[in-house]
Amino acid sequence: MISNLCDLAPSYIRAIAPYQPGKPIAELARELNLEPHRIVKLASNENPLGVSPKALAAMEAEMEQLARYPDGSGFELKAALSAKLGVNAEQIVLGNGSNDVLEMAAHAFLAPGVSAVYSEHAFAIYQLAILAVGAEGIQAPARAYGHDLDAMLAACRADTRMIFIANPNNPTGTLLSNADLLAFLEKVPGNVLVVLDEAYGEYLPEAFKSDALAWLARFPNLIVTRTFSKAYGLAGLRVGYALASAPIADMMNRVRQPFNVNSLALVAATAALNDDEFIARSYALNQLGMRQIAQGLMLLGIDYIPSFANFLAIRIGNATAMYRRLLEHGVIVRPIGNYGMPEYLRVSIGLASENNQFLQALEDAVKEQA
Ligand SMILES: *Cc1c(COP(=O)(O)O)cnc(C)c1O
Repeated sequence: MISNLCDLAPSYIRAIAPYQPGKPIAELARELNLEPHRIVKLASNENPLGVSPKALAAMEAEMEQLARYPDGSGFELKAALSAKLGVNAEQIVLGNGSNDVLEMAAHAFLAPGVSAVYSEHAFAIYQLAILAVGAEGIQAPARAYGHDLDAMLAACRADTRMIFIANPNNPTGTLLSNADLLAFLEKVPGNVLVVLDEAYGEYLPEAFKSDALAWLARFPNLIVTRTFSKAYGLAGLRVGYALASAPIADMMNRVRQPFNVNSLALVAATAALNDDEFIARSYALNQLGMRQIAQGLMLLGIDYIPSFANFLAIRIGNATAMYRRLLEHGVIVRPIGNYGMPEYLRVSIGLASENNQFLQALEDAVKEQA
């Protein structure tokens, strides 16, 4: 008799702490008996503008075909990405969200006995992906809540095969400059893969846009990941991609499930990719909302980490209690104690009305707490 069925899993699987997603609107509505439409969710960095109209139309046209398996090669989406980004189709790995490509990278190149480096306060999925394949995760200390590239390089050991970098980082919103990243890539040994996660790249002002595509030819150990979940507004569909040298992409594709990206996601992403107007609107709305929330926080005397993404980490005493109070006011944000930031809450930038509702709830919650 086995006393504990969990013991059947390898110890490195048992060591994984479950991921804590943002609370869904429907769940809070049930718990507090609130009307769902009165709840504001600013907890998962989703696009408040919803889905690009072009993506919606593409999905409607695809509906009749759902009895068929998706195109496992993702031909059309890869062609669109090739044309837009100037990479070859063999350099692209499509994922069920970029989460999926991050896991594929770990699955293809990590194993028990090797290690991978990530930063303190970095996106939680890196650690999960590393642990799930039995590799060892090494956490490098952060600097002012951002990635410290020197510390990350210093943390590498002889058995290190991969370094994960989020730029901008979630949940801190911090950004590394192109110059610093390039200098870093020049120092990283060629047998260490660098995964550069650019989930929020579309929210960067022109002057800060990533140079990473130009680096792919020079650094065959570079893997760039991007997603349709954030500025492209397709989080619920799950679609993202990685760009890398052809041999690296080949290895990642070998561990990919043959039909990992569904038919609706493929056509929606292809359409969304070329909806420049939607991306421009999303960017502009985010800039305005960021200013609106930053200004509101300043008036309330609440400190925050300046952010290059579509969310802000705000510093607030007793963050767990504050999170609950905000829930009672119908506002869902994200506690980030599991990121080593127990005094912070992360709030996503929403529509102006949602940002207002958040600021009002925050003001009320602060008063209640006092
Ligand atoms: C949201 C996010 C992703 C994207 O996840 P998907 O699986 O593509 O939805 C990737 N990296 C970071 C840092 C993120 O915050």
